[in-house]
Amino acid sequence: MVDSLLGELRAAISSMSRTFIYRVPGECERCPSCGSSQLYELDLLPLPRPVNACRTGFVSGCEECGLIFSNPQPTAEALAHFYSPAGEWGAPRAAGTERSPGPGAVTAGRSWSKVFEPVRDFVTAPPSGARALDFGCGDGKLLDALQGSGWDTTGIETAVDSAFPRHRRLATIPDTPVFDLIVANHVLEHVADPLGLLRQFARAGRVGGYLLVGVPRFDTLPIHRDYKYVINGRAHVTAYTWPCLQGLLARAGWRALAPPPDRMSKGRGGHTSARMRVMAQRTEECVETPAAPAASARRAVRGYYADAQDRSVLKRMGWYRLAARGVEARRRQAVRRRKAGRRQVEHSEK
Ligand SMILES: [Zn+2]
Repeated sequence: MVDSLLGELRAAISSMSRTFIYRVPGECERCPSCGSSQLYELDLLPLPRPVNACRTGFVSGCEECGLIFSNPQPTAEALAHFYSPAGEWGAPRAAGTERSPGPGAVTAGRSWSKVFEPVRDFVTAPPSGARALDFGCGDGKLLDALQGSGWDTTGIETAVDSAFPRHRRLATIPDTPVFDLIVANHVLEHVADPLGLLRQFARAGRVGGYLLVGVPRFDTLPIHRDYKYVINGRAHVTAYTWPCLQGLLARAGWRALAPPPDRMSKGRGGHTSARMRVMAQRTEECVETPAAPAASARRAVRGYYADAQDRSVLKRMGWYRLAARGVEARRRQAVRRRKAGRRQVEHSEK
């Protein structure tokens, strides 16, 4: 009761600050996944593309499901540009920044089946006729390995066709429970509604079957410090802490088998804290969701900035709307000054 009143109070304050302090055109007023109005700001986010001349957005969070998302979400047009050959997806990245291994790419290293711990035995020796789906299967390397172990393999992939002489192709996720194993590796961070996608997987997964999810990891931000990899408003539009992912899986009908370790192997002997991989099982039972799923996201941001000397008081206090208003006002003033300077030069040259 007290919690729900507090939640409503927070939502009302948040709505008022959107109205009176600062607002980005196109900003989400509800969680793009669970639909809750209990949103909060975690940080400022310089927008990759200006929205109505506005360049300061937010890394926002949802109190209800713990999802972290770039706010506003990119438009469909901006996303289409990003994934086009002319977009940034294919461009080389700055040194030292993590890059997702790409959907389906979990086969690096000698033992591809390692990624399926703790159900490795089931994956390497499936029951006869068992079916696997790799959502975003890329060139089909993982499907090749599964097929080699006896799986009946299906892929969904819009970008390339090379997997499909060897594997069954689907355009959409089926609405009937036909799969014993579903893989969604580095998929969720690209979608605004991960809960909707996990529910689609649940409809397509047989009760007792498994789901492998891999995502960039937000709660280990103070360890890996690769903020732009985890959320950037271009390709990675949502971000995940372990409690958030566990809760989303539970809401969709998946029970996570074990919490992810703080560091995971990324193949060829390397390790990373910037990603997590979770195995979950399809269940019809009600799975408990973690309490206060937003707490670890707040902790991660505090930890990330713990040693920052130049962080403004507004940001340190968590008053991100006021901070954003200040940033935008200073930026616009600088633009006006530059324009006035140019006009003066042109005038004196005449
Ligand atoms: Zn939510």
